[in-house]
Amino acid sequence: MADLPPYTETSLDVIDETYDRLQATFASHRTQEAAYRLYNLKQLAFLINDNEERIIAAAQADLGKSSFEARLAEVIPTLNEIDLAVKRLPEWMKDDKRTRDSTYAFKLARPRVKKQPKGVALIIGAWNYPFQLTLSPLVGAIAAGCPAVIKMSEHAPVSAALIAELIPRYLDPEGYAVVNGAVAASTALLEKRWGHICYTGGGPVGKIVAGAAAKTLTPTTLELGGKSPTIVAPDADLKITARRMLSIKQMNVGQMCVSPDYVLVTKENVDAFTEELIKTLEHFHPPNSERSFLNESASTFVRNTNDYQRLENVLDDAEKGGKVVYRGEADKDRNRMGLSLVRLPRDAKDEESWLVRDEIFGPILVIIPVEDIDAAIKYINAGPTPLALYVSSASRATFEKVVSQTLSGSAIWNDFAMTPICRTVPFGGVGESGWGNYHGYDGFLAFSHQRSLLEVPYWMEFAQKNRYAPNMNPRNER
Ligand code: NAD
Repeated sequence: MADLPPYTETSLDVIDETYDRLQATFASHRTQEAAYRLYNLKQLAFLINDNEERIIAAAQADLGKSSFEARLAEVIPTLNEIDLAVKRLPEWMKDDKRTRDSTYAFKLARPRVKKQPKGVALIIGAWNYPFQLTLSPLVGAIAAGCPAVIKMSEHAPVSAALIAELIPRYLDPEGYAVVNGAVAASTALLEKRWGHICYTGGGPVGKIVAGAAAKTLTPTTLELGGKSPTIVAPDADLKITARRMLSIKQMNVGQMCVSPDYVLVTKENVDAFTEELIKTLEHFHPPNSERSFLNESASTFVRNTNDYQRLENVLDDAEKGGKVVYRGEADKDRNRMGLSLVRLPRDAKDEESWLVRDEIFGPILVIIPVEDIDAAIKYINAGPTPLALYVSSASRATFEKVVSQTLSGSAIWNDFAMTPICRTVPFGGVGESGWGNYHGYDGFLAFSHQRSLLEVPYWMEFAQKNRYAPNMNPRNER
């Protein structure tokens, strides 16, 4: 058994002291030095490598994640982020020259952009991937030269306690700190002035964070959620689609921000795709078997009794209406619930239905028949802007058409949920799914201010004479 620390909330006094300490460290300018940034990035990699088993054990204790899933979704992507930052930091820190397209008058002024740390950062994480969702933004903050406070989610207390133990042991404790607690701790933190706030979580709290940040005009990255749709086109390979989709949907039993939430299937494929989903599901997780959703080593549990009850009620209602085409196994006492499939009427847009209106964030996949691709596009555009959008089709042109006629944080042709672990593209939402983004270079930029610099040395005086009276000539711009 891994040795895991107990969870304790950080007192409000400690929050004040921590804030002052990190501000003093930023004022010393040492977090800007490349050596300081590289040291802390490498220490973060050591933190993960030395404690991988404990990190996995904590993810298991909080959510019942299998070690495969914890490694895949918490450990590896974070190490990849660190690896890229260490490799590219010297390049990222270089000023960007902006001479090429400047007007003639500015060529001599050597226009350039310096990427400077915005100040002490606040990172607020969510419970579903407690390590990745706090440590990946932290990579961006360290790379940019920002000290940072991490506020872990109280809904993943074992992971929160472990990170609180490890960060000060591995990273400079004068530059990086962890605050544990719930709404009171978040509220106390949000009352302070930060260089940048990176928040991951649901939209309603995102609005609270944005509102608090507005009071001090603090820039924010809001990593929110929402309903991520999939379009299954008439020419889709249904077997591959079902396999790829369910291998993602089963992860964390759907408690993932980019999990496929509902599927818009064109009319000719609805029955065949539903059958394919059921077949694949029973193949991946046969009931009453070792790979059953009820087996502890095979799957995550639903976060808590409230969430479990909400999902069960929704399924019971759908079942009464004859809409459940596959009901997953369930064990109420252990909050364990397998994937269920719910099929709604064509173009279902009933505002009263929770399944259509709200992010499911659990083990239910909704199937909605549509006439054709245009109807699917119309359906998506009538709702909030999704975080991710997926298109299954044999044709790249169909994907391009959907991409050009819709908006979402990211989009994937024939796969699911992969953008957050591809470290070379930005990850973030748009509209209701959030704003700003991070990961890789974009994480570095999120915590950096891009400052414009011009140089006009005294020897350039010969070029300035037209700005002084009596030679000043407003029409002589060149
Ligand atoms: P959560 O309950 O863990 O809350 C997120 C954070 O907000 C926590 O640290 C919590 O303490 C804090 N918080 C809660 N109430 C607050 C308040 N009133 N004031 C200030 N802070 C407060 O997480 P959640 O909201 O249940 O997370 C699930 C949501 O997050 C889903 O919508 C999911 O799609 C989204 N999500 C998005 C991403 C992403 O990267 N875009 C990743 C994971 C989850």
